Amino acid sequence: TKSKLQISLTAPNGREVSLNSGLFINNEFVSSIGNETLRPVDPATEVEICHVEAANSNDVDRAVTAARTALNSPSWRDISGSERGALMNKLADLMEKDSEILATLESWNGGKPYASVVGLELPAALGCIRYYAGWADKLHGQTIPTHSKKFAYTIKQPIGVCGQIIPWNYPILMAAWKLGPALATGNTIVLKPAEQTPLSMLYVAGLVVRAGFPPGVINIVNGYGKTAGHALATHPDVAKIAFTGSTVTGRLIQQVAASTLKKVTLETGGKSPLIVFNDADIEQAARWAHCGIMSNQGQICTGNSRLLVQSGVHERFTKRFVELVEAHKVGDPFDKDTFQGPQITKAHLEKILCYAKGAEKEGAKLETGGQACGEEGFFMQPTVFSNVSSSMAIYREEIFGPFAAISSFDEEDQAIRMANETEFGLAASIFTKDIKRWHRVSTQLDAGMVWVNSSTDSDFRVPFGGMKQSGIGRELGEAGLEAYMQIKSVHVNLGLDL
Ligand code: NAD
Repeated sequence: TKSKLQISLTAPNGREVSLNSGLFINNEFVSSIGNETLRPVDPATEVEICHVEAANSNDVDRAVTAARTALNSPSWRDISGSERGALMNKLADLMEKDSEILATLESWNGGKPYASVVGLELPAALGCIRYYAGWADKLHGQTIPTHSKKFAYTIKQPIGVCGQIIPWNYPILMAAWKLGPALATGNTIVLKPAEQTPLSMLYVAGLVVRAGFPPGVINIVNGYGKTAGHALATHPDVAKIAFTGSTVTGRLIQQVAASTLKKVTLETGGKSPLIVFNDADIEQAARWAHCGIMSNQGQICTGNSRLLVQSGVHERFTKRFVELVEAHKVGDPFDKDTFQGPQITKAHLEKILCYAKGAEKEGAKLETGGQACGEEGFFMQPTVFSNVSSSMAIYREEIFGPFAAISSFDEEDQAIRMANETEFGLAASIFTKDIKRWHRVSTQLDAGMVWVNSSTDSDFRVPFGGMKQSGIGRELGEAGLEAYMQIKSVHVNLGLDL
């Protein structure tokens, strides 16, 4: 089966890529037990790229068993944190060496502009793995004085087998955010990429072997959410689930994970506000707002989809924002000057178009865009509506596309109320030069992350995550380690007789 699973592809940029399409379990690529396959499509041309194996629940069970065995194997359990860190650094080095191949797959399969994958996303993913590699030998417990004849201490231990379910919008980056802290803390992993984007992590799977990880520590199983994802979320031997994706699926996962009381962390949707006050630098506000909602085809969980602009600068800001939107090129992800590629799937494009139609009916003012574009591929014109009121769907629901809704406000209190009138609480941006105001407003916003005079500017050293229905727990930074460790308390009796 090994040779059957080996595939050679020629990407649209001419690069030859050879990878294994199997399920990566125990450091080997294997066929799935069922006959299911995934058929990833190039969203820029609508052409199928290849077939890859899709896991069913029995396959997930095989992967979990491998991860469970690895958890207790001396080659993983007994190595030092420094050795774990060295393996992680080796993986990052191998990924860096093959970054053009990884970027090619990421761009081809996900419709993502190649230049930003190479320039921004891969460095962020490598940085994240290396950051957590550095933590691997700096994790320790405490000694706690209790009694003169007793001694207590804590040790930090891995949680166990971690199921990690990742989305299609940043496959490698989201995998790095999850693998980094899980490996640093000594867990073993079954990672399931999104069914739309299986390719780049298959390539990474090959590098896992070359980096020297013991078999079963990192398992990568492609598959559908309802089968493979569900099997992971319900498996009794999976101790923890980490998920990034939609709020609807996040709720489902938490429900089914409850039957075995798994630890659950979720990074879900958002409807993040960007507030522009009258005293803001309007050019900078427009630029950051543009980048914060239109980059990655608007498929960003922290995207500043609601622009709340104070009445004094509303007209000026809107004009400049629309100019920027219209000046950026939509097209082939492999073209150097492309800013925006296609949406991930036809269904997703249609959902975005539906929001545009609905917004016009509800009385919002179309400033630009609103239509699909291109002769083939799932391309959407970047779209801006103004005059958006809080009752409209485009103000309340996550669209996850290149789609901005502009509303105006008069007073600071009103801006805070508008920013918070959502079930989500992922992120928020404030543009103002008033130091007292940014401090006052950022304290009152319901958001896990606030940017002052910037937007969607994440960094692997800083915690990332949401309030309200945008998630549970934090990834990245020191805080990101917590979800992957448990504390064991050891009470030692030094001579207290009963
Ligand atoms: P999704 O949440 O359904 O998929 C994300 C991941 O969860 C994928 O790996 C998928 O296979 C898996 N999954 C799906 N159903 C599952 C289940 N029942 N049990 C376990 N795992 C399951 O997202 P989607 O359907 O690809 O996209 C729908 C919407 O989600 C988008 O339009 C967007 O609004 C949102 N989204 C958000 C993010 C984010 O970063 N927050 C990422 C992707 C999508």
